[in-house]
Amino acid sequence: MVPDDNQDWFQIKIDDQTVSEADVVMALMRLNLTGDVTKVCRCDNCEDCWLFAAKKNYHFCSAKCREAFYKKAPDYHARKAANQKKYRSGLKRMDVNNLKAAQKRK
Ligand SMILES: [Zn+2]
Repeated sequence: MVPDDNQDWFQIKIDDQTVSEADVVMALMRLNLTGDVTKVCRCDNCEDCWLFAAKKNYHFCSAKCREAFYKKAPDYHARKAANQKKYRSGLKRMDVNNLKAAQKRK
């Protein structure tokens, strides 16, 4: 961490730590050295938050943003209904299998 003596720098408190502009610059320089600086991007939903996309499928700053993004998709309700139908048929299948297993034990 860089000393946060310069009051002209932008600073933010995260939990009990103060993160300054200089800290962010140092972190970005370290990421650039490791070749990971291109993984720093903005959230696809809110576009306010920055995130480190350690994996290619990381696009959102939070679960709330991920849900909000997918809710905007035109096929959201149809996809959700299909997933629920598949889930319920799986539960019914499990119930039938459990019932058969219980009857065999008798
Ligand atoms: Zn977000």
